[in-house]
This record gives sequence, C-alpha cells and structure tokens, in this order.
Amino acid sequence: MNDSVSMPAQPADIPSVDRVLRLPGAQALLDQYGRAPVTAALRRLLDTLRAQAVAGRLTRHAIADAALCDALAAQVQRDSQPRLRAVFNLTGTVLHTNLGRALLPDSAVQAVMRAMTAPANLEFDLDTGGRGDRDDLVDDLLCELTGAEAATVVNNNAAAVLLMLNTLAQRREVVVSRGELVEIGGAFRIPDVMQRAGARLVEIGTTNRTHPHDYANAIGPRTALLMKVHCSNYEITGFTRSVDVAEVVRTAQPHGLPVVVDLGSGTLCDLARWGLPPETTVRDTIAAGADLVTFSGDKLLGGPQAGLIVGRADLIARIKKNPLKRALRVGKLTLAALEPVLRLYRDPDTLAASLPTLRLLTRPAGEMATLAGRLVPAMQAALGDAWQVSAVPTVSQIGSGALPGGQLPSFGLAVAPRDAGKRAGRRLQQLEAALRALPRPVIGRIRDDALWLDLRCLEAHDEAAFTGQLPGLAEALHA
Ligand SMILES: *Cc1c(COP(=O)(O)O)cnc(C)c1O
Repeated sequence: MNDSVSMPAQPADIPSVDRVLRLPGAQALLDQYGRAPVTAALRRLLDTLRAQAVAGRLTRHAIADAALCDALAAQVQRDSQPRLRAVFNLTGTVLHTNLGRALLPDSAVQAVMRAMTAPANLEFDLDTGGRGDRDDLVDDLLCELTGAEAATVVNNNAAAVLLMLNTLAQRREVVVSRGELVEIGGAFRIPDVMQRAGARLVEIGTTNRTHPHDYANAIGPRTALLMKVHCSNYEITGFTRSVDVAEVVRTAQPHGLPVVVDLGSGTLCDLARWGLPPETTVRDTIAAGADLVTFSGDKLLGGPQAGLIVGRADLIARIKKNPLKRALRVGKLTLAALEPVLRLYRDPDTLAASLPTLRLLTRPAGEMATLAGRLVPAMQAALGDAWQVSAVPTVSQIGSGALPGGQLPSFGLAVAPRDAGKRAGRRLQQLEAALRALPRPVIGRIRDDALWLDLRCLEAHDEAAFTGQLPGLAEALHA
C-alpha cells in the first residue's frame, strides 16, 4: 500500500450515492438485486464510512472505487440473507426450543409443500360437498393412537391449556398440587395461564408432598376440575409424595368432576422400547381415567408446533364451541405436517428410522464417535496450532422439558485454546462467535474451558456441508 492510499480520508472525500451507483461494480448489483435494496445498503455503508472519517479512522484506500464496490456487494448480500436460517444444532439438546424443536420427516415436508402450492379440502367435506371441520383431518388418527373419544388441535400446548381452562373453569376453581406449578421457558407459568383463562387456582399440598386427601379437602361448590401438570423441566426427589392420575380420578369421581392433565411433551409410544427413559404416554393417561389430556406437537411427538387436546367427546365439543378456539386454531400447513407424522406412529417398528426426532434420540454413541474421529483432523486443520481439537465422550439431552433426568451418551468435539492463559475465556467466546458467523451457523456450547460440539444432530446427509465451510473458520475467527 503506498502513502497516498493509506492517508486518512476526510468526510468530504466520501463520494455521493449517485457517483457510486454509476460505477460498473454497482451497476451489476443493481441488475441483480434491484435499485431500492442497493441504494439502502449504500446509504448505510456511506454513513458508516462518514463516521469513521470523522473519527479519523478512514483511509483513502477504503473509499477507492473497487473497495467501495466490494463493501457494497458484501452489505447487499448480508441484507438479502433470509433472517430465518438453517443452523447446525451441536448444542447436545435434541429438541432445542430456541432452535425450532422437532425436524419433520420427509412425508410431512412433501405434504406441507402440496398444501402450500395447491388448494386443499381444509374445511371441505369431499363426500358431501358441504362444509367440513379442519380437525376432522387428524382427529380419528389421534383417537386411534391415544384411545381417546375425541380430539382437537390448536396452535401449541400453551394454547391448549388456556383453551381447556377457559372453556371448563371460567369463574370457577381449579385444584393443582404445589409440586406441579410449572414454569416452562418463554413465560408459560401455570398460575398466570390460569388467571388469563379466567379460572381461580386452588393450590394444594406442599412443594415436595401432596396426598389424595389434599385433593379431596379442596373440592367445594365452586370447583370446576382437578388438574395435573407434568413436571417437564425439573424433578422433585427425596422425601416426596405425589398423587398419580388414577388416584386423582378416584377422588374426583364421586363429585362428578373432570380430571385434566397437561402432559407437556406427551409421547404416543413407550420410549423404553428404544432404551430411552420411560415416560407416561398419552394412552396411559387416558386409560388411567383422565377426562382431557393436552400435549405439544413439536416435542417428543416429533411433529410441527401444535397443541393437541384429546379426551371425552362432550368436553371436546364444548372446547370446539369456545370462540377462543377460532383464535387459537392451527393453519393448513400445520395440519398438513401433523397428519403424516401421526401416520408414522401406526407402525412403531419403523418409527426409529422414519421419525427424525426419534432417529436422533436413539442414535448410537458409536456413530458419533466415528464421526468425531473423521472431523478432528478437518477441524484442527481449519483452526491451526493455536487450538487443540479432541474427540470426547459427552451426554446429550432430550430437551424441551422432556424427561429432565434423561441423558443420552454421545460423542463430540472439544476445542480449547492452547497457551492462552488468562485470555482463554475470551478466545473461546471469539471461537463461538466465529462458528455462529459461518454461512450455516454452528451452535455449540462453552463448558469446562472448551467449546463443545455434540455430534448427535449432525447426520450423514449434512456432513459435507459442515466440513465444507470449515476452511472459512480461520477467516471468521480473525475478522
Ligand atoms: C412444553 C410445555 C408446555 C408448553 O407447550 P408449548 O407447545 O411449548 O406451548 C406446557 N406445559 C408443559 C407441562 C410443558 O412441558
């Protein structure tokens, strides 16, 4: 670089928008992206350069024609990237709420595509030519898989709980154990939902112990129902007592009161058959006498975001008549995705292969260990000698409040800075940020003075995409 280009530039040296737009490099961008986005990006770029010039930090080199066009191209590309992007979930949490929870099987993806591009019989009865009900598309499948009499679908499980309580318990009392007053991340708290539903919460028992007589003593003239909530994201251990659904049902029956259960993750199959921690199924809960059960579509079920309500036909009918149901209903894309996912459950023998969530949860640690062995050299080469990359055993979590105690043996990469001393923490944060800055961001976790990348959710079909962008890591690290 010679002296004239490394000389500081003054604000007055910065060219006008019009002049830059006339450069051949800018013309090419105009042709590709259109005038409005390129002009907007250029104004932002020139504002940044002006601020640098005022601060005395701008060189003439940075405002040469070629440099301006390169910076403009980079800015326009950044602006035109979709905001919702595919990432690599190497956090070790399979159902990661912040990363979109369950991935859909191919049959569901195809169904969503069809529903997006062609009219469909969403609320149209093809047999009679009359009006249909969108719930009809999945309610018999839900009944078959859960043993319930009736079913309905809303936007998510939070909506399902709200709608259920508002329909059955407005201006009346709902009895819940103090051990089950759950808060789910993202501001779902049983007492708050209860209040918004217009129901009055009656807390019984203590944090660690609730007995059948606590339920019995709480029942009065204003009681609408007894409710149980799955302790999705915590465990109470030690000196404990809780009352199972069947016992609550026995207490409620003489009073003619319904028992409702918010099952949270709600699985349709016994997970123990795949060596996963056992979890009460929706069918077990219905069989135990619950009148209504609510659960999520995108947790262990492995489908799209949805809230499912199954149970007694008369209660489901009342729920469907509530005007809030119209406000909380699901769209056709959700129903399109849900139906094929539910269909997969009709053949549990093939489920571990066909349903991505179960496939990931049951992936043997040996597979991740082999993958780790392949990825260590690639990662080490990308990062250079300043980093130590090792293949390490780790444990994955199921996530999304499913089975808090459930841990799955896995394998991953641990990346630690060499000889960084006191700067180690900062270097790890830089590495974490560089991984996030890759074209397809890689999300890991910093723990024990290393960055951990759990390989459970890096499947064969994505391996080339992962290794392909590693060479860009060094550049991202020094950007
Ligand atoms: C996850 C969960 C919810 C909220 O479900 P969303 O589908 O995320 O709305 C409610 N209750 C329990 C017990 C849960 O685990």
